[in-house]
Amino acid sequence: MRILFAASEVHPLAKTGGLGDVAGALPKALSDLGHEVAVVLPLYPRVRRRLRDPVVTAERVPCRFARENRPFRLLATRFEDRPGVPIHLIENPWVFEAEEAFYGSEPGSYGDGHLRFLYFSRAVCELPAALGWSPDIVHLHDWQTALVAPLIRTVHRHEDAWKDAACVLTIHNLAYQGVFPPGDLHHAGLPSFLLAEGRLLEKGLGNLLAGGIRFSDAITTVSRSYAEEILTPENGCGLDGLLRWRRELLTGIVNGLDTEVWDPSRDPHLPAHYEASDLSGKAVCRERLLQAAGLLPTGGPIFGVVSRLVGQKGLELVVPVMADLLAREPAVRFVILGSGDPGLERDFAGLSARFPGRAAARLAFDAPFSSLVEAGSDFFLMPSLFEPCGLNQLISMRYGTPPIVRRTGGLRDTVTDATAEMIAAGRATGFVFDAYSRSALAEAVARALRVFADPSALQRIREAGMRTDWSWARAAGEYERVYAEARVRATGRLHLREVLSGLPPEPLEVALPELEAIPPGYARDALVAIPFDPETLYCQWEVGGEISGPLLAALAPGEAAGMRFLLRLADSGSGELLELELPGPAHHCFARVRPGRSYEVSLLLAIPGRPSLLLHRHPAVEVPPDVRPEWQ
Ligand code: ADP
Repeated sequence: MRILFAASEVHPLAKTGGLGDVAGALPKALSDLGHEVAVVLPLYPRVRRRLRDPVVTAERVPCRFARENRPFRLLATRFEDRPGVPIHLIENPWVFEAEEAFYGSEPGSYGDGHLRFLYFSRAVCELPAALGWSPDIVHLHDWQTALVAPLIRTVHRHEDAWKDAACVLTIHNLAYQGVFPPGDLHHAGLPSFLLAEGRLLEKGLGNLLAGGIRFSDAITTVSRSYAEEILTPENGCGLDGLLRWRRELLTGIVNGLDTEVWDPSRDPHLPAHYEASDLSGKAVCRERLLQAAGLLPTGGPIFGVVSRLVGQKGLELVVPVMADLLAREPAVRFVILGSGDPGLERDFAGLSARFPGRAAARLAFDAPFSSLVEAGSDFFLMPSLFEPCGLNQLISMRYGTPPIVRRTGGLRDTVTDATAEMIAAGRATGFVFDAYSRSALAEAVARALRVFADPSALQRIREAGMRTDWSWARAAGEYERVYAEARVRATGRLHLREVLSGLPPEPLEVALPELEAIPPGYARDALVAIPFDPETLYCQWEVGGEISGPLLAALAPGEAAGMRFLLRLADSGSGELLELELPGPAHHCFARVRPGRSYEVSLLLAIPGRPSLLLHRHPAVEVPPDVRPEWQ
């Protein structure tokens, strides 16, 4: 299969969290299975600085945005360890380089995301034509690229490059949906027929993820438990109804781990290496962690955290539970690496000030230090309120650091609780608790302390975690099955019937309607104008590839220069004519129609000194009586 990954982050070029890890690893695993894979990413300033020898593959690729052509330059680089997998980079400095952060400067904010990612989604739609490469699957990730699905099913539906592509959308975190005022999306150039409830609007607001869920051929999320949880009102973040409606398309696939990157036997950020059969290197990492974090030497347990500091991660429970523990147990050490919420940053800075030499907080994003925390700690804390999959617990298990997790989402699916029975069976990999409460976390921490005092039990738990196969090869096989199903659905277009039932019939047809009155000798795919939306008579018109040659050849040079295309709306009752001059090929335009009237739509070619040629006539379109067109 030819698979195009469209993502806002791709490790190692751009990453703020798990999405970047997935988009950096899954393409490589799929390529190892024999698929032809390509990745596309915006060229952010941080990516530009990291690029080595990018190749320019196309200059000034046309891209419609905010009703204008805003071309981009296309560059390409490759994964260093998989030179067969290209990473295409969309370069438009005005869009992607206006600021340093990917998503806006405030934590969790989208900033100008409706502009950046709307532009990026538009650019992704232009990519196959620019590359001469049409994908069988376009794999979209979260709200930032979800919009590609509605766009290729409507605006780009006639293009050869997209005709046979199936859309697969992966939800990495349902809490982030790309919600913007409809006016912002309209100004950014989204066609108004998409800005309707049941398409891109969700309870009056533009919701890019909801649009992607409606128009994709398959939806995945990053663990089986999370796939069930998001169907409930408690965890559905307002989209549970929509997801229940699409549940047949929804599959949970637990993320893999890039085992080449996350490998304690060769991680370049570690002072010593180790594996399950010999953990002596882990003891060296432990000492280095204490030193690097400014903590006092100890024979007691070290509890570590690496996390974005956001509410989801349950860190509000960690602060008091660790404070109590540190107050009681002088041998305990605590270290956290993370940045984000200012309140949480203050709380952890406060904890380290209160327990100098025993608690440390590094409030930063620091990949080398994250390896050291994963390897040097004895237990890893991850008491998330919700967790779609979570990579950190997988990393910690692989690094022989049993995680202490809440039974939710991917944590539930990946960590086996250290009950006496499971420890004896050699299957326990961590400590799992249920209630989202301090006491439940404290109880799990107490169990971990008991295991710390029992070296053979601790060794068994460590080994079981280190030996589990979390490689991407397993997950890639599951994605292959989802892709195959999506292709069947895409070809049948069965699932889209319900979504699109409100649209007038023409845009649903894969084939263009027959053209009328094309003079003999002119190409049959010359022109078409389709009123998409009876409320606004929003039209799209396109020039077919063959018209210009024979037509222009038949015209005198002066005639060709004066040639104009006109969209004519004839009021069926009064006969009143509205004529719009169309500025160029493949344009969208709005006709200023009146409520309650019916209009015939025709497309004319006007050549000075000759009678106009009728290229296409569309049957009358009724404008509902109660509509208030958007320009009023
Ligand atoms: P999420 O995607 O919700 O942030 P995950 O556990 O799925 O959580 O993935 C987090 C990834 O980001 C891991 O690879 C983790 O090591 C990394 N990470 C998070 N915070 C930091 C940080 N402050 N410094 C370095 N790496 C971090």
